[in-house]
Amino acid sequence: MANVRLKLLDELVSYLKNIPGIGEKNALKYAFWLAEHKDKARAISTLLNEISTSVKPCKLCYNLTINEDGICDICADSSRNRGLVCVVESIENILEIELANVYNGLYFILGGVISPIYGIDSIIKRIDHLAQRIIEEHIEEVILLISPTTEGELTIQYIKEKLKQSSIKITKVAIGVPAGADINYINRKTLIEAFKMRTVA
Ligand SMILES: [Zn+2]
Repeated sequence: MANVRLKLLDELVSYLKNIPGIGEKNALKYAFWLAEHKDKARAISTLLNEISTSVKPCKLCYNLTINEDGICDICADSSRNRGLVCVVESIENILEIELANVYNGLYFILGGVISPIYGIDSIIKRIDHLAQRIIEEHIEEVILLISPTTEGELTIQYIKEKLKQSSIKITKVAIGVPAGADINYINRKTLIEAFKMRTVA
């Protein structure tokens, strides 16, 4: 029987299915769609090429930026409260907080939580960077918005240990967030409440 799937499409599927939320079945669906809609596929290809060369992580907080100096718009905004740094797991968390309009300080993206499954090196490196920022930038309060899961709690403990010497105020946004819940799935109203009710970590 002839192979109905082309090798090129198989290769595309193998990349697409790595994207969070896209399984094998959807990856196949998208690959076929792209093969059939050539104009859109070319436009997406051009855009992806541009994104891969011009979008980079902010040097200070790991948010994404296209600014030449490598500093994102939030970090460059002088009207924000520069004494506050909110530590989050992902860029999506920043988007949610900004939309909720509940916070006007700076951010720091961990890129996940310390997990025995996914490895810890990159997170540890970022926490080292955070500790360095706290000393250099005279930060007054670190707000932890981290999932109250086992891995999240482990991450919070590690950050607290790492920042102990600087005797900085560390608070956590946890009240209102159900224990064991993933911070990426809480709704906006809960997020606003949780932010207002933050407690000393
Ligand atoms: Zn930034």
